[in-house]
Amino acid sequence: MKTSQLFRHSRLRLAFWYTLVMGVILSLSGLGIYRSLVQSNWKAMEREIESIAGTLHDSLEPMLPPSENPTTVLKRILPELCLVEQPCNANPSLIERHTTGISDRNTYYIRLFNHQGKLLAFSPNQPANLSQALNSNPWQTLTSQGIRYHQFTTILHSADTHEDGHQKRLNPSWGYLQLGRTLKPFDAEVKRIQVILIIGFPLVLGLVIISSWWLSGLAMQPIYQSYQQQQQFTANAAHELRSPLASLLATIETVLRIPPSQPQDLTKMLHTLERQGRRLSNLVTDLLFLTSLEAQSSSKPFQSCCLNDLVSDLIEEFSELATIADIDLIEQIPDEQIDVLGDESQLYRLVSNLIGNAIQYTPTGGQVVVSLMVKERTALIKIKDTGIGISIEEQNRIFERFYRVDSDRARKTGGTGLGLSIAQAIAHHHQGHLTVKSQLRTGSLFTIHLPCLTRTQVCS
Ligand code: ADP
Repeated sequence: MKTSQLFRHSRLRLAFWYTLVMGVILSLSGLGIYRSLVQSNWKAMEREIESIAGTLHDSLEPMLPPSENPTTVLKRILPELCLVEQPCNANPSLIERHTTGISDRNTYYIRLFNHQGKLLAFSPNQPANLSQALNSNPWQTLTSQGIRYHQFTTILHSADTHEDGHQKRLNPSWGYLQLGRTLKPFDAEVKRIQVILIIGFPLVLGLVIISSWWLSGLAMQPIYQSYQQQQQFTANAAHELRSPLASLLATIETVLRIPPSQPQDLTKMLHTLERQGRRLSNLVTDLLFLTSLEAQSSSKPFQSCCLNDLVSDLIEEFSELATIADIDLIEQIPDEQIDVLGDESQLYRLVSNLIGNAIQYTPTGGQVVVSLMVKERTALIKIKDTGIGISIEEQNRIFERFYRVDSDRARKTGGTGLGLSIAQAIAHHHQGHLTVKSQLRTGSLFTIHLPCLTRTQVCS
């Protein structure tokens, strides 16, 4: 599968899973909100029915007649109720009269039953086809002519007065009061919520799909970049290995063709072979070192390293090379000891790469100054030369692996283009970094920034 296809495929998969997860979360929360809205509306409606029924119940009970046949009394106390088996006045205002706060009297209906469950009276707006038999369950939901109703049934007791104590006492169960209401407004509200959810969900899902695609693109970007860098690195490494290998093979062929009568030629060729082999070996070692640094797999524990000694040793080591190249190598080291925590051999390599480069890229008669100092609890090692310098555009690239400003020139001097990448990786490995300031034909200044060990006096 092509790389771009592979990444596109992965991005699609990521976006799909993101959408799926977000979709499920959204559906569950939508469902939860829907349920709680419906439930709270339902509860509020039941509370309203209960409170109206309570008001009716309390105002009716003291007036209820004790007799078995209360028709005449009922007619008197509830004149606008229809009595069973009697002509009915279809303009009720009973509920309006008995309950405050009910503006729409068509919403509610009431029915009265005797204690045997026989229907005695009802409001004219009660649902059609409603059974005349009593269902004494407190709450019932029923449907009539496609409209749903919810009704509440409560027991009524008639008032009885004691002759002696002039006190009222309630008889056990005079009958039942049933108060119901249409669920039309409630159902309309539920439908409205459903419509909002049904229209809103695909809209939100659409937004989620777009944002998933965008986010997965963002997530894939660094992976794609790192993949490309890795590919570039593999190609560069293969290219770097190919040239010395090709010349190695060519030298071997020449060696094989040398007649045994010319041993001096053979020795010369073997020296060339050794040089090429060493170069190959160095390249592979550098690559392995860089990989282990970037994988942070170096198991050697860090210890306190004295930078004064490290820089002094390196100046001494490079002084001969500087003399041969006719370069003035100057050291500027303070008297106070500056310590950092790290791997001494790696730090040694870091500074030596930079001093080596400074000498290498400075023409004869030039100057290289290596100075050591502390600034804001950071140890700074500065390597300043008066060499060929590096242009601004190249300064951004010199830390890339295998990058050389002038490849032919650098190759001739034995450079692999890995020196600065290794230096940068070592600095990062020590929680530090490497910076460069340079001007073409004037010189360069490389600065190593390392966290100073705080127990050192100058760093505290
Ligand atoms: P090399 O092994 O080729 O020296 P480096 O990674 O050390 O590779 O350096 C990368 C490039 O940076 C070199 O090819 C060189 O052109 C440039 N460079 C590094 N140090 C200096 C310097 N002190 N002055 C000028 N150019 C430099």
